Amino acid sequence: MGICELCGKEGSRMEADHKELGRIMVCQECWSTLYEKNSMAADIGSSGSSCAFCK
Ligand SMILES: [Zn+2]
Repeated sequence: MGICELCGKEGSRMEADHKELGRIMVCQECWSTLYEKNSMAADIGSSGSSCAFCK
């Protein structure tokens, strides 16, 4: 539990790897927003592969 670093809402938070802000703790809503806006750093899930498109 804690406070979202983006909207300040209290509740459960998730760790997000923001492109500009770095590693921040945000609520699920903000996490989804970041994900949809492609604001996450690109190293989630697809790192280590030679091709980012064909996985
Ligand atoms: Zn939030």
